[in-house]
Amino acid sequence: MYADLSIENFMSGLKKRNPGETEFHQAVYEVAESIIPYILENPKYQEAGIFQRMTEPDRTIIFRVVWEDDEGNIRVNRGYRVQFNNSIGPYKGGLRFHPSVNLSILKFLGFEQTFKNSLTTLPMGAGKGGADFNPKGKSEREIMRFCQAFMTELSHHIGPFTDVPAGDIGVGAREISYMFGQYKRLCHEFTGVLTGKALEFGGSLIRKEATGYGCAYFMEEMLKHHGDSISGKTCVVSGSGNVAQFCTQKILQLGGKVVTLSDSGGFIHDPNGIDQEKLNYVIDLKTNRRGRISEYAEKFGCDYHAGERPWGVPCDLAFPCATQNEIEKNHAELLVANGCKAVSEGANMPTTIEGVSVFHNAKILYAPGKAANAGGVAVSGLEMTQNSIRLAWTSQELEERLQNIMKSIHKQCATYGDDNGYMNYVKGANLAGFIKVADAMLAYGVI
Ligand code: NDP
Repeated sequence: MYADLSIENFMSGLKKRNPGETEFHQAVYEVAESIIPYILENPKYQEAGIFQRMTEPDRTIIFRVVWEDDEGNIRVNRGYRVQFNNSIGPYKGGLRFHPSVNLSILKFLGFEQTFKNSLTTLPMGAGKGGADFNPKGKSEREIMRFCQAFMTELSHHIGPFTDVPAGDIGVGAREISYMFGQYKRLCHEFTGVLTGKALEFGGSLIRKEATGYGCAYFMEEMLKHHGDSISGKTCVVSGSGNVAQFCTQKILQLGGKVVTLSDSGGFIHDPNGIDQEKLNYVIDLKTNRRGRISEYAEKFGCDYHAGERPWGVPCDLAFPCATQNEIEKNHAELLVANGCKAVSEGANMPTTIEGVSVFHNAKILYAPGKAANAGGVAVSGLEMTQNSIRLAWTSQELEERLQNIMKSIHKQCATYGDDNGYMNYVKGANLAGFIKVADAMLAYGVI
């Protein structure tokens, strides 16, 4: 039935069924490139239509979110939850609040999450959700009312054994707290239905640091595998939100020097390096005061490049930690030309397909987000475990677990990623992530 399986045929069918969803097409194409040749060598997956099934979400929930702003105006947003695949555990993945949110972006994120969660070694399926709501410029009360309205509908579709959302862009501890409070009120139960909660009500230590720390740990593992380390390296980091902040912190702890950070307005270049004191300023600026990264340049007297991304700054290592498609072909070429040796993605799909080809052709080390940023969802998984056993582990214990998980992800990638002597982490992550989920799906029969 699937004798004509080829990347071209597969993608043309997928595009027909999901018109206009360019980010989703991109995420599937990147996986199809490594998975389809493997499926052709392993007919059991082809005969069972596993990849066709894996690219179709279990279900997609779209709903109206109505709330009232401070002036009494009625506002309407669109909320989503894409429950992608629950073969190896409850649906798990973040919620994003950003004006750009649409079905294509959430389907790309939910699809990637399938592979990422599989790689963590923990029993978690994949989902993603959010709303086209812009938290920027909203008052505390408006944020609270929006989160409550959003959860009023979402609460019908989630649960500690069904679907456990977390944060993402625009959804941090504050938003998770408002949503958890509303879930508790509506459902009359106190369960681990969201992760990224505050410590006082079931949150986990190290969760807020986990994605960024994990991204730096993954880089360290890649370099170690190739006889090198972060120590002494000049690093370019993009973003200045949760992931960028703690990726920077871990790079500093591992002896690297971070010279850039960015936001949607532009980037700062601090050739002297961002030390812990300057980073504390950024954390306060972005988390508490919701300011702009340009204020860093004014405060510490360095350059600010409005409307630009940091990839032209010479570096040894790059850590894209802002958003999807922020490294395009020309940026990747600049990085390679300036001597960048390795890239570890904190963000999801920050590099375009053409950008990835540049890295692969130059044979630099390139870790895709589904492997390098899996530390966040891994510690979310550990938060679920702690909630279930009603215990809280120490920071030290959790960080050791995180480090071991990142090492295990690296090992899985290395097992499947060899490409004639070049370690292709995209292939390694895709195959290792795929096999576990695919085998579970085979075991369930035709469902
Ligand atoms: P935050 O909201 O904390 O920070 C996002 C950062 O990216 C901000 O600096 C923001 O700038 C910038 N940014 C957002 N959109 C754009 C854009 N269109 N162009 C340029 N810059 C932009 O989010 P996180 O740090 O949590 O997430 C960052 C990335 O990491 C995302 O891709 C997310 O999916 C991924 N990720 C996050 C995880 C987590 O645990 N939080 C887990 C795994 C992956 P500004 O302030 O101007 O909006």
